[in-house]
Amino acid sequence: MTYEVACSKCGNTLYSGFDLRSPNDVLKLFGYKCKKCGAKLAPEKFRVEVRKIDGSFS
Ligand SMILES: [Zn+2]
Repeated sequence: MTYEVACSKCGNTLYSGFDLRSPNDVLKLFGYKCKKCGAKLAPEKFRVEVRKIDGSFS
């Protein structure tokens, strides 16, 4: 299983890995902004995807 946090605006992957981390912890690393499109990212609006390694959604 891969845990992925992506920008809800541009879809840029901010964090991808096997450790389950809260969106808030991930966003804090980026100053609550997307490094690609500059959108402000609020943890409660965040899209979190958990994917299996074969690519299907769980
Ligand atoms: Zn973005």
